[in-house]
Amino acid sequence: MLDLEVAGRILAQAQYVAALTGAGISAESGIPTFRGAGGLWQNYRPEELATPQAFARDPGLVWEWYAWRQELVAKAEPNAGHRALVDLERLTTLTLVTQNVDGLHARAGSTDPIELHGSLWRVRCTECEAERTIDEPVGGLPTCAECGALERPGVVWFGESLPEEPFELAIDAVSRAQVVLVVGTSGIVQPAASLVEIARSKGATVIEVNPEASPGGRNRIALVGRAGEVLPELVKRAT
Ligand code: NAD
Ligand code: ZN
Repeated sequence: MLDLEVAGRILAQAQYVAALTGAGISAESGIPTFRGAGGLWQNYRPEELATPQAFARDPGLVWEWYAWRQELVAKAEPNAGHRALVDLERLTTLTLVTQNVDGLHARAGSTDPIELHGSLWRVRCTECEAERTIDEPVGGLPTCAECGALERPGVVWFGESLPEEPFELAIDAVSRAQVVLVVGTSGIVQPAASLVEIARSKGATVIEVNPEASPGGRNRIALVGRAGEVLPELVKRAT
């Protein structure tokens, strides 16, 4: 594939690279994307459960859904796509920004991925906002050790704004990068869209990896395929 050769060469020449990943990179680990097939759970849609309103209405139901997702992720393993980004860190200066909450990038060995949407492995008090990290799925309704109030998942829900610090780090990364890899995220939904726009306005080349073709264009290369297949090939060509 000619595009792959070109993308590999551009990546090899870049001194500073940012990668932005979405649910698609974890699809080959068996973690369903929200919108794709298999993204349903007990007849609920994520838009109906991953919201502050749903939690206020029925925290038990929402926690049950998160516990199910934690179980799923705990049993899953990082795939060749996650590992290729670990290899890329050895070739160039890479900042990895993810919308995923599964923690698979860190488990694969990536250094300090920026988690824009929080993590399934964080919980936060609904009253005093104390946060803690957990290492196994939550059972029942967790409560805060500081104040006794109900805890909530440490993730960003629909209708909530992104935590400021990781988003600022992400903006900084895409502003400085010569190449931005956009993997497993549609790139037209926020916040991916605005980060890609910033990168393009600063003259970066955007390389997309997605089984769904996206419009190419100036300084934009679309590598059509699965992350676990395309990324290792791309990184090999950048070596
Ligand atoms: P999304 O909008 O990022 O869409 C998924 C994208 O992945 C699609 O463009 C699809 O074409 C692509 N894709 C599918 N299989 C792929 C593969 N094998 N390789 C590369 N790309 C592939 O994500 P969404 O599922 O609509 O979820 C929205 C948000 O919900 C996420 O950004 C995240 O915060 C959260 N979420 C997280 C996880 C996770 O942590 N694994 C899973 C589901 C949803
Ligand atoms: Zn508290």
